[in-house]
Amino acid sequence: MAINKDRYLQLVTELQDNKVSLVAVSKTKPVQDIMALYQLGHRDFGENYVQELVSKQAELPQDIRWHFIGHLQSNKVKYIAPFVYLVHGVDSEKLLLEINKQGVKAGRVIPILLQVHIAAEETKFGFDTTELTALLQPEKLENLKNARIAGMMGMASFTSSQERVHSEFEGLKQMFDHYRDKELPNADFNILSMGMSGDYTTAILCGSNMVRIGSLLFGNRG
Ligand SMILES: *Cc1c(COP(=O)(O)O)cnc(C)c1O
Repeated sequence: MAINKDRYLQLVTELQDNKVSLVAVSKTKPVQDIMALYQLGHRDFGENYVQELVSKQAELPQDIRWHFIGHLQSNKVKYIAPFVYLVHGVDSEKLLLEINKQGVKAGRVIPILLQVHIAAEETKFGFDTTELTALLQPEKLENLKNARIAGMMGMASFTSSQERVHSEFEGLKQMFDHYRDKELPNADFNILSMGMSGDYTTAILCGSNMVRIGSLLFGNRG
């Protein structure tokens, strides 16, 4: 139940050298573990479940930046809208519209990342290229003033083939660059969230600037 402090400090140095930010994925882990990293100066934490996030947020220091990285259901957006720092897994227009609506209610602009489906597996969520093209039209984004598109997020296939992971991440980087160069209202492609404990070095090689790392820091989840 203890955090891996040496691994954390090593990782921080490695990521700083590459100008990559670190989201420490604390899902299923106790608040004590989060506090241990907090005391080392860490502020960005990622959670997958709304209820767990809401209760941890209430209990822990208010300057933590909470990233929601799981699959978010539209009917649960309201619980995290007042405080969430970044929603990584926005995978439908319906969800984006709901986040905008809850952003209006909460009186804030909620930064989000569009999740893109890059893995071979059917089970991973995300937009495909056709859906992205359909969504990313100026007239669609114009009114979404309270849900700001800050970039993209993707998860590679769960495979031992580094070659395959590499090509999936590269594909996402190309898509990211394509949209970064466009002028779209309420969108600003600055963040490319890709890479987890098992594949973050490959992700960084492919241009990631935000990694989401859990088990390397907190140990395996039971
Ligand atoms: C759990 C999770 C992570 C962290 O996974 P590790 O392999 O423990 O680093 C990253 N991203 C998402 C979306 C996750 O659900």
